[in-house]
Amino acid sequence: MATLEIKDLHVAVTDEETKQQKEILTGVNLKMQTGEIHAIMGPNGTGKSTLSQTIMGQAGYEVTQGDILLDGESILNMPVDERARRGLFLAMQYPAEIQGVTNAEFLRAAINARRPKDDQISVMDFIKKLDKNLELLDMSESMTERYLNEGFSGGEKKRNEILQLLMIEPTFAILDEIDSGLDIDALKVVAKGVNSMRGQGFGSLIITHYQRLLNYIVPDTVHVMMGGRIVKTGGPDLALKLEKEGYAGLRDELGLDI
Ligand code: ADP
Ligand code: MG
Ligand code: MG
Repeated sequence: MATLEIKDLHVAVTDEETKQQKEILTGVNLKMQTGEIHAIMGPNGTGKSTLSQTIMGQAGYEVTQGDILLDGESILNMPVDERARRGLFLAMQYPAEIQGVTNAEFLRAAINARRPKDDQISVMDFIKKLDKNLELLDMSESMTERYLNEGFSGGEKKRNEILQLLMIEPTFAILDEIDSGLDIDALKVVAKGVNSMRGQGFGSLIITHYQRLLNYIVPDTVHVMMGGRIVKTGGPDLALKLEKEGYAGLRDELGLDI
């Protein structure tokens, strides 16, 4: 069993124009284990993507206080690729194109980066695994021979991120607004992929604006983030309550001024 623990995390970014430091995360606490799916909901601009970028170690997000621990070990000083090797995965809100690399080449390299030098995946095993997952996600094989994300539609990118998830098999996956812009059929495919990963060796942090996705990927725990921290934690019913009463309702209930 693996654990991911976020302790009193404060994160600041520097505003490009004013050069002023701005605190975005104001003390996030969250602990999760493999076998669990946690959802984070919250209004726009509250710091959800800042949290995911900081967990992954993207440049520009300065941790000013607190820690992020993977199995009890701080990952704050590790670069992005080291965090990925340790089993963290972030599905980007806006995935980038990588020129000149096919999707299949990228996937094989990403799988092998997590395996020892003397135990790289064979071409046969890779193709078997790829075929199985393409079928599960109802994706065409031709997608894998195209250059990564080049000319992919929004829906294709999202589906492809789920393919990456199934191929790389991370320990903890952060899915940041994986549902944005998806029609209901694509949403169901995405949910099917994530649900197929569910199990003792896998944990996921699902970040979403809307409750809809959580009908298909039912989380064990729901956190609500406002003003750069988690203000309430509950079960799946919390997402339904939010959908009904809105963030304003919760703000009133908690007497928050954020
Ligand atoms: P959410 O994902 O909840 O919508 P974000 O984490 O994207 O929120 O953004 C939270 C706040 O931090 C916003 O006010 C946003 O403008 C600001 N912010 C995020 N990243 C940066 C950055 N790199 N530079 C400047 N401001 C940023
Ligand atoms: Mg946003
Ligand atoms: Mg966001």
